[in-house]
Amino acid sequence: MDLTITPPPGYSAVPDARWAWADPSCERCHGSGTVWHTVYEHDLDGREYDPEEIIPLYSEPDDCDCRWTPDDDILKELNRRYWSWGNPDRARDAWDGIAKAIGPRRPGGRYWSGYWQISYTVVSIDYSFHDEDPASPAWQITVKWDGGRRTTHCTPWDSSRDSCHRPAARHPGPAPVPAELRFSSPAPAGVRRLWSRLATWLQPRR
Ligand SMILES: [Zn+2]
Repeated sequence: MDLTITPPPGYSAVPDARWAWADPSCERCHGSGTVWHTVYEHDLDGREYDPEEIIPLYSEPDDCDCRWTPDDDILKELNRRYWSWGNPDRARDAWDGIAKAIGPRRPGGRYWSGYWQISYTVVSIDYSFHDEDPASPAWQITVKWDGGRRTTHCTPWDSSRDSCHRPAARHPGPAPVPAELRFSSPAPAGVRRLWSRLATWLQPRR
């Protein structure tokens, strides 16, 4: 079987999809191969369009009309080879995914979990293979949380909230005005004025 893939001229590969191409000049998807359509409640329960219903429930991806893939029999054969034991393309994709999931974490390093709001030290990162297939690697990380508890998991690194550094403590804001500056003490008038001026300086600025 000839497995040569010849996408239409000018088409570019769809990111994160194997064997799919799309037209970069497409006005609907701009080459992503995916169009998002908005789903409203009336779509789900089969009611007619309700002009009052302005808040959509969610968006759903659809293949764009311009999306191109090889013929089914070729796709089937490409898939069969991709998932065959030890396929180097699949191994590369899998290791790329693992590298992304581990992120900057290394054994011995200390990191901040934005989700749990606590720091931890990486004890080890271990690898194994599903069905002893070198193209099906798996990983897990053992960490020691501040406080001493150890867990083993495979939570991916999330660069939007995890960090290699503990975030700086938030500024606690202006110091509270001491109680004795709150005009309650029957002090002489002159002293009271001084206190009140002091209190003004110590007030949080807005
Ligand atoms: Zn398109």
